[in-house]
Amino acid sequence: MGYFYDFHVHSNECSGCARTPARDMVPALKAAGYSGFVLTNHFLNGNNCVPNELSWEEKMAQYYNAYLSAKEVGAEMDMDVFFGIEYHYGNAQEILIYGIDHDFLAGNPDMCEIPVTELCDRVHKYGGFVSHAHPFRERGYIPKGNFLMDLSYVDAIEIYNSANREVEDEKAQALCRELNLAYTAGNDLHLDSHLANFPNAGLEFDCRIRDDKDLVELLKSKSGRLRFSGERFFK
Ligand SMILES: [Zn+2]
Ligand SMILES: [Zn+2]
Repeated sequence: MGYFYDFHVHSNECSGCARTPARDMVPALKAAGYSGFVLTNHFLNGNNCVPNELSWEEKMAQYYNAYLSAKEVGAEMDMDVFFGIEYHYGNAQEILIYGIDHDFLAGNPDMCEIPVTELCDRVHKYGGFVSHAHPFRERGYIPKGNFLMDLSYVDAIEIYNSANREVEDEKAQALCRELNLAYTAGNDLHLDSHLANFPNAGLEFDCRIRDDKDLVELLKSKSGRLRFSGERFFK
């Protein structure tokens, strides 16, 4: 048994579609066997619930404070909690950004206005990591057609998303092999009780992830083992 992490979790302080506070995700994920997770709330250009009238600083504090509240509980429960975001770049396509922090957000107040490729460049310069979220998801809210960004700008694609259908993740896994990309996996968790219904997916590593630098290095190393159990939520 290794160390099991969920790389895609939302919370209701920032994500408009989430129902559980970040701090309550910690015991729920621990009970499901995880060693930790990355909080990846929908950013301002996605399904967020951060008040529009706030300043950039206040908005970024709302994102980071949600993470800090979970991290505090994580420290008490021996769970590793990391900060990330899910960024919508158009046509319901999203990227997951890891290895960034409050300084990155504070220093990039134009990050919702620049091309997604430029944002990827900035994240990489900062030492961060980009994974394309659910690249083959088909839903009513996603326009039909290929709107995927230039994937040479991302480090990884999400090869398992518990809220996907199996066929959608199989396509992602095939593309990942074809392009020899790194990969991420997670539940796309929006509600703690969904862990009872979702397949409880993530990546398992031989060692514990200590910090952001570790997290980025481990993802780049492609040493994570995809793990999941249970039934698909969507058939
Ligand atoms: Zn959502
Ligand atoms: Zn998501």
